[in-house]
Amino acid sequence: MSAAEKQPVFRFAPSPNGRLHLGHAYSALFTAAEAKKADGRFLLRIEDIDLVRCRSEFVDGILEDLAWLGLCWDVPVRRQSEHFETYFKALDTLEELGALYPCYATRSEIRAAVESKADHPRDPNGAPVYPGLYRNASARAEPERPYALRLNHALALKLVREKLGHRPSFQELGCGPSGESGSLPVTPEIWGDVVLARKDIRTSYHIAVVVDDALQGVTHVTRGQDLFAATHIHRVLQVLLDLPEPIYCHHPLISDDTGRKLAKSANDQSLASLRESGVSADEIKQELGFAGL
Ligand code: GLU
Repeated sequence: MSAAEKQPVFRFAPSPNGRLHLGHAYSALFTAAEAKKADGRFLLRIEDIDLVRCRSEFVDGILEDLAWLGLCWDVPVRRQSEHFETYFKALDTLEELGALYPCYATRSEIRAAVESKADHPRDPNGAPVYPGLYRNASARAEPERPYALRLNHALALKLVREKLGHRPSFQELGCGPSGESGSLPVTPEIWGDVVLARKDIRTSYHIAVVVDDALQGVTHVTRGQDLFAATHIHRVLQVLLDLPEPIYCHHPLISDDTGRKLAKSANDQSLASLRESGVSADEIKQELGFAGL
C-alpha cells in the first residue's frame, strides 16, 4: 500500500440549501483539525441530491465561507448531483438482495395508520416509525403510481448477521447525544423501514453518503451528533453493499447563548452576515475553540 493510500481521509459534507452558519463552521473546523492531527486529507463534498432545496449560489457561498475560514481542501470537489447513476446502481444491488420494497404510501395514509395508536414507536428524529404498509405487497404492482423504496430493516439485519456471523457494530471515537462511545451495536430497528429512494429524486441521503464515503476512501466520518443515529442505517448498508467501514466521530452541536442548537432552518446568523458585520475569521475560530488552525 502506498503512503497516499494509507493516509487517513476526512470529509466535510454540507448540503447547499442555505448559507453556512456557526454550527457548520464548527463542524468544518473540527474535521479539518482532526485531519491535521492525523496527518490526513481533508475533502469537501457537496451533498446536493435534493434538487429543489439545493441551489448553486449556496455552493458558491460554501466555497467562499470555508476559504474565508482559511480552510483548504482537495480538488475536485465531489458534487452528489453529478452522480445519481452511481446511487441507482447501489439501490439495484439492494433490490437484488431483496432488501427493498416499493412503498406507495402517502403521508396521510401513514398518519391514518399510526394516529389511533398512542404508543406507536417514534424514530430518533421523533417521527412515527413506518407502520409497514405495502411491506408485503407484490413488487411494482402499480408501476405508473409513484413509489418510494424502503429498506426492509428486519430482513436487512438478518442478511447482515448471516454475512458477518454476528450483529454489526460501529466504532465511535466521539460520542452520541447520550454519551455513547466505543464499539456500539448496530440497531436499525430504532428507525424501522426507512426510505432509501425517495419518490421525487429516486435516491436518499443514506444511500449517497455511504456510497460516496466509500468511493472517496473516507476513513473517518466526522459530523454533528444530529446524524449519530443515522449511523445504524449506514453500517447496515455498508455491509450489504460490501463497502469498507469508516471510523465515526460525532461532535456535539454548538448552541447559541440561550442553549438552543444552531440550525439553518432557524435562520441562525450566517457566516456571511457575521463577516459583513466586521467579525473576523480569527475571532470565529477563537470563539469555537480552533484558534491557530
Ligand atoms: N449533508 C449533511 C448535512 O449537511 C451531512 C452529511 C454527513 O456528514 O454525513 O447535514
